[in-house]
Amino acid sequence: MRLKGKVALITGSGSGIGKSTAILFAKEGAKVVVNDISQANGIQTVNEIKSSGGEAIFCLADVTSKPQILKMIDDVLETYGKIDILFNNAGISVVGALHETEDDVIENALKVNVQGVFLMSKYVVPHMLERQEGSIINMSSCLAEIGFLKRAVYAATKGAVLALTKSMQVDYAPYNIRVNALLPGTILTPFVENYLKTSYENPEEAINTIKQRQLNGKLGTPEDVAFAALFLASDESKFMLGSPLYIDGGVVSGKAL
Ligand code: NAP
Repeated sequence: MRLKGKVALITGSGSGIGKSTAILFAKEGAKVVVNDISQANGIQTVNEIKSSGGEAIFCLADVTSKPQILKMIDDVLETYGKIDILFNNAGISVVGALHETEDDVIENALKVNVQGVFLMSKYVVPHMLERQEGSIINMSSCLAEIGFLKRAVYAATKGAVLALTKSMQVDYAPYNIRVNALLPGTILTPFVENYLKTSYENPEEAINTIKQRQLNGKLGTPEDVAFAALFLASDESKFMLGSPLYIDGGVVSGKAL
């Protein structure tokens, strides 16, 4: 019960890492706000939480839409009265060298991966400031720190999230609000399965190549990232401020080959 009594809003928690985190946070006693643009997936997450005795509500909202964000925050405050934890997890993938990437794909990636984090944080922070308490977790990526083939646009969005995290932390540290970032490596989720299918002729071969660059020869699981998020959400990480937390099978710190 590491999050007993806390209210956690997790964007994009109808699938993958967000979903695993929602389930784990609920097991640890949090009241979870499951947000997604897919109603069916979001409701499925809520149902799984409730069937194991946890507490959760679903809020349909696109993190790029200010009116939808404001409505979601109103609904959460009406239901639970506060937001202790904001996990800015929703994100989309982009694959391709910069010159091959369509303008609208670049725009959309910036909108969801960067502007979505700005807007969610901008409108949740005032409630945390009022209570002088909060933990914000921003989803970056190990690609914010290392270059990779055909990932320029995606990496730039995640670099922006990391930079945002550090400067937000400076502004809000005096108000007992912590802002940290998660930097996962390759985690096997629908997001990565789709990326493998659309980017490689032989996805199995691609998985093996990706595994080889991990120091432990394995891909991560959504639960691996959920446990890191749990630590950042809980008071156990109270001395972590503006930190990048790697969950990457060693990709950033060493070379397997
Ligand atoms: P995922 O399974 O695709 O989950 C992302 C969820 O976000 C989906 O349910 C998606 O809904 C939702 N979403 C997309 N756009 C949204 C929007 N505008 N508003 C609200 N929700 C939205 O992906 P994941 O692998 O768990 O990734 C979660 C986060 O981790 C992303 O930010 C990603 O960049 C980051 N990350 C992933 C990895 C990895 O290897 N998997 C590594 C590093 C970082 P739909 O499915 O309906 O689009």
